[in-house]
Amino acid sequence: MKKVHIKSFGCQMNVYDGQRMADILSHQGYEETATPEGADLILLNTCHIRDRAVQKVYTELGKLRDIKKAQGAEGQETKIVVAGCVAQAEGGEIQRRQPAVDLVVGPQAYHRLPELLAEAHKRRVVDTDLPVEDKFGFLPAPKRQAILARGVSAFVTVQEGCDKFCAFCVVPYTRGAEFSRPVAQIMIEVERLAEAGVRDVTLIGQNVNAYHGEGPDGAVWSLARLMHRVAEVPGIARIRYTTSHPRDMDDDLIAAHRDLPQVMPFLHLPVQAGSDRILAAMNRKHTGDEYRRLIDRIRSARPDIALSSDFIVGFPGETDADFEDTIRLVDEIGFASSYSFNYSPRPGTPAADLDAQIPRELMNERLYRLQDRIEHHRQAFNRAMVGRTVDVLLERAGRYPGQLAGKSPYLQAVQIESDANQIGDIVRVVIEKTSTNSLFGRLAEPGETDGKGLAA
Ligand code: SAM
Ligand code: SF4
Repeated sequence: MKKVHIKSFGCQMNVYDGQRMADILSHQGYEETATPEGADLILLNTCHIRDRAVQKVYTELGKLRDIKKAQGAEGQETKIVVAGCVAQAEGGEIQRRQPAVDLVVGPQAYHRLPELLAEAHKRRVVDTDLPVEDKFGFLPAPKRQAILARGVSAFVTVQEGCDKFCAFCVVPYTRGAEFSRPVAQIMIEVERLAEAGVRDVTLIGQNVNAYHGEGPDGAVWSLARLMHRVAEVPGIARIRYTTSHPRDMDDDLIAAHRDLPQVMPFLHLPVQAGSDRILAAMNRKHTGDEYRRLIDRIRSARPDIALSSDFIVGFPGETDADFEDTIRLVDEIGFASSYSFNYSPRPGTPAADLDAQIPRELMNERLYRLQDRIEHHRQAFNRAMVGRTVDVLLERAGRYPGQLAGKSPYLQAVQIESDANQIGDIVRVVIEKTSTNSLFGRLAEPGETDGKGLAA
């Protein structure tokens, strides 16, 4: 068998695309290998969201060129493929900067990998079309063995692209316009995953709660309606979804957190900033108070929900007062976790041309302060779990022998002592202590609860 090494950078959508490319290539006689050395095909699935992500790709390509050269000297031919959003945005420029690259393929064209690879044996190829055809209709199903190897939690892309055009963001340009997969196609994929033992599915999309796919009845289904259908699949015990936009959190979706036990009490709902002036300049189309009121409604439906967000620090024109609004919002909401980034100007986006770009040093200072507050709230959320009994989905062996690692309903990493092979089981765990990144607990005795009604 030929060997392929796939390295994915960036978001969950890239992880999902990387797995789909592995599925396509397994039907072409390739098996996956964990290292680039020795591989016949090396595929970088890239991210264009921030400049640093792009620079990482070029650094990585330099190393791969050396591997290709060394393997060539030993008589082994190696092909290098760049896929993902850098491929889409940079196209042929990638091969000009790194001539060792054989094929550049965008995120909407990778279903054509077999023909493109055949072509790449004759000449260097670039395919960054955003075709009208639905690539999902052409993707082969993963083999059962591949599903098992990937574990009991899986991503399923239900939506792609974005029509929101936030002023800082490249996604609408690299992933294209919003597209929702038909319900029937998604259900075939979820049922196949469940039959192979998957218990936890995360429905993903750049703007997942804008989902509006064609239902089997011919009507347009919302994400909430889709989740009700997914919840009926035997074996699927947990449903999550990401990433959502505040403008698209409708009443049905909020109600699903109250009504569907399979929908986990965790929501990643990026707000980006706390200042109304900056939110308007970002074209987010909501204010800080609208976000706060939305959170109140979500918490009324599911009081124990863990919330998470993305923040951008140093958007052009951000004053100290604007930044303080972000800190205030973080302290008021008390997120269970969050991602935060320095603003990175992206070529072709409106914000890149704005005056008043913020000096790097000031950005770093603000980011440091913000991350300190985020960490404070994260630790407080985790510490509050000590003494509680939660349901943990056991996903894999832990770091040490006799340990199993899993996830709480709130997406926290949990470690328990157990020699039993319980991977895929959902067990009741009493949380005993926390470390920086994990909770530690023991299996609860039958009937044991903390009496707080928290365990989901
Ligand atoms: N659709 C999601 C939303 O609206 O929140 C986010 C998708 S984006 C792939 C993930 C995160 O990257 C964003 O929420 C934002 O915080 C961050 N991001 C996007 N563009 C950025 C930029 N130019 N500089 C810094 N961070 C950026
Ligand atoms: Fe980017 Fe998200 Fe805004 Fe779409 S909604 S433009 S993906 S940040």
